[in-house]
Amino acid sequence: MTTYRNFPMVPRVIFGNGSFSQIGDILKLKRKSANAPFIFLIDDVFKGKELATRIPLVENDKTIFVSSEFEPKTYQVDALVEQIKADYNELPSGIIGIGGGTLLDMAKAVAIMLTNPGSSAEYQGWDLVKNPAIYHVGVPTISGTGAEVSRTTVLLGPERKLGINSDYTPFDQVVLDPDLTQGVPKDQWFYTGMDCYIHCVESLEGTFLNAFSQSYGEKAMELCNDVYLKDIPEDESRDKLMMASWHGGMSIAYSQVGVAHALSYGLSYLLGVKHGIGNCLVFNHLEEFYPEGVKLFYKMMEKHNITLPTGICKDLTEEEFTTMINVALSLEPLWENALGKDWKKTATPEKLRSIYAKI
Ligand code: NAD
Ligand code: ZN
Repeated sequence: MTTYRNFPMVPRVIFGNGSFSQIGDILKLKRKSANAPFIFLIDDVFKGKELATRIPLVENDKTIFVSSEFEPKTYQVDALVEQIKADYNELPSGIIGIGGGTLLDMAKAVAIMLTNPGSSAEYQGWDLVKNPAIYHVGVPTISGTGAEVSRTTVLLGPERKLGINSDYTPFDQVVLDPDLTQGVPKDQWFYTGMDCYIHCVESLEGTFLNAFSQSYGEKAMELCNDVYLKDIPEDESRDKLMMASWHGGMSIAYSQVGVAHALSYGLSYLLGVKHGIGNCLVFNHLEEFYPEGVKLFYKMMEKHNITLPTGICKDLTEEEFTTMINVALSLEPLWENALGKDWKKTATPEKLRSIYAKI
């Protein structure tokens, strides 16, 4: 008999321009006591900006600015948890992450680690978290990763880049306010949005595809096409990309990502290349695996005058290539989704090396 996975979903979501203004009312109902603060982790790109001043601090609530220059690391999560524990006698009422995938993942991980002993690195993997996280809220300010709906928080640990995948990871509340994505730099808008587009291609072209994933994947794909290939007004485009991200994330919940993500993890692990741009760098050379998807991707790049950097891997040693290849090949479910049970016949180390060499 098949055993199906029973997934948690984000139980509450508010959507609409200006909806961030309601966060104070939403949180009020969740405050555990006057001494149990809400901690807002916000991308430091908002330091001195209007958004930071709209955070409704009451009692002993606190804002912590976090840089998203680098993707979240396990030691960073552990340090934040230590700091919060040292600053307060009581566990917080909740953690609110405001920013892109980096801040959303940081907030999820901190919420988990406040109630679980040890280092976050011990929980990288599947279903290793023992205790429920504290209440956590996600407020995306850039769209594409799907981190606002996902059951994982991707961390760079001492040994690997891997998510804490657990039933306690998803947010308890998400605030989708498309206005907050105003001001995202154009290139970044493209790279992070392409993360969503690539989620769709990998899910829809994968062998794990099922009606659940397909229904979300097709909708997300349609929205991405509207955003990146048509000429629609900017506010409509922000709305649509935010919902594309949501649906793209839902689509991979019940399937998997594929070749681009596997290779991009290798790049990120060795060179620290960030997720969105890393996916684009890789996807650019994947016609063989995703002919239609890559063709449309070229069209999107052309329409938005995006030029990808080149020569990223040109000075790497053989040993470094091997490290990237090993990281990529270790992500077996991704390859199996992309190529089926016999994936090892196609995804050989030589094949991967030849793709990396082009980047
Ligand atoms: P990001 O969070 O790193 O943000 C990208 C850049 O955009 C940063 O420089 C940030 O300061 C800036 N930015 C964000 N909002 C802005 C705004 N409104 N105005 C101006 N600048 C703004 O990038 P991302 O692509 O959203 O996230 C990447 C991260 O997400 C990676 O760490 C990746 O591992 C993770 N991720 C997680 C999941 C998941 O399911 N948990 C899925 C995909 C990716
Ligand atoms: Zn992704």
